[in-house]
Amino acid sequence: MITIDWAVRPIITDADHPALHSTCVPVEQWDGNVRDLVHEMIDAARRSPVRAISLAAPQIGECVRVIVYTRNDRWRALINPELRKTFGGEEELPEECLSLPGRSILRKRWLSVTVTGRDERGRPVRETVHGWPARAMQHELEHLDGLLLTDDLPASG
Ligand SMILES: [Zn+2]
Repeated sequence: MITIDWAVRPIITDADHPALHSTCVPVEQWDGNVRDLVHEMIDAARRSPVRAISLAAPQIGECVRVIVYTRNDRWRALINPELRKTFGGEEELPEECLSLPGRSILRKRWLSVTVTGRDERGRPVRETVHGWPARAMQHELEHLDGLLLTDDLPASG
């Protein structure tokens, strides 16, 4: 009998971890590996002690261009995402990151964005989101380029 034992992967909360500071590579093959990764990311986000609405692959140590996000109470994957359009003006609000627990950092973001990419089966995805989901998209896209909320803050101490 074969039992599938999903690896439970913790979210990296060490801000110095190299996975959080690397430019992630695109997905090129839509096989079981990408679907397993999406599954593990959703699992990690759901198990997070604080409510998560999105997560980027490097946050569980995989430097590939995959994010997961919630839309209409369902978790979805966006692979090789591209920011296509920003609109609605910008707003500066305190923002948090699952990889920077306990920190809240002011960040200016577009109120509305359109992103494109593919889902875990390679089907094209196009999403236009507003408000917090738009903020979350912009946040996760930065993770794929190795950027954290703290990266443009002046060094302290
Ligand atoms: Zn984050």
